[in-house]
Amino acid sequence: MKNLTLPAEGGCRCGRVRLRISAPPLLTMACHCTGCQLMSASAYSLSAAIPSEAFAVTQGEPVIGGLHGASRHFFCRYCMSWMFTRSEGLDWFVNLRATMLDDPSWFTPFIETWTSEKLPWASTPAVHSYEALPAMEEYEKLITEFAGSFGGVGNAGG
Ligand SMILES: [Zn+2]
Ligand SMILES: [Zn+2]
Repeated sequence: MKNLTLPAEGGCRCGRVRLRISAPPLLTMACHCTGCQLMSASAYSLSAAIPSEAFAVTQGEPVIGGLHGASRHFFCRYCMSWMFTRSEGLDWFVNLRATMLDDPSWFTPFIETWTSEKLPWASTPAVHSYEALPAMEEYEKLITEFAGSFGGVGNAGG
């Protein structure tokens, strides 16, 4: 697996919204739920859970999309790329869509969720699969296990 070099920059399809992460993900995920299928226009969404204090929008103003519910899905207002999600009640991390990063080649999903709704052919290399979501009390163990398995972080320097 390629290393993640920090800080890492990213942005939407048109480049009007740019973002930066300065810490490695707490967890990486693929979600097969039908909501993610619709919003990603694909078989599943990819998320890197970035600690909130290590995530910044550096250019542009993303807007709310999706169902406009308690979990806030952020999109570029011009190109409509689905960029990141702030989940209800979970202020300490941001679920960044991994492909927004300029170089997502380090990314692999460590867990996959909602396999009960997945397209029949869709599979990922995730280590742990869940028919729905992991139980809340499982996350701490998953985060610890992921930290131990993560390929490593480079430093861009300067
Ligand atoms: Zn855009
Ligand atoms: Zn989903």
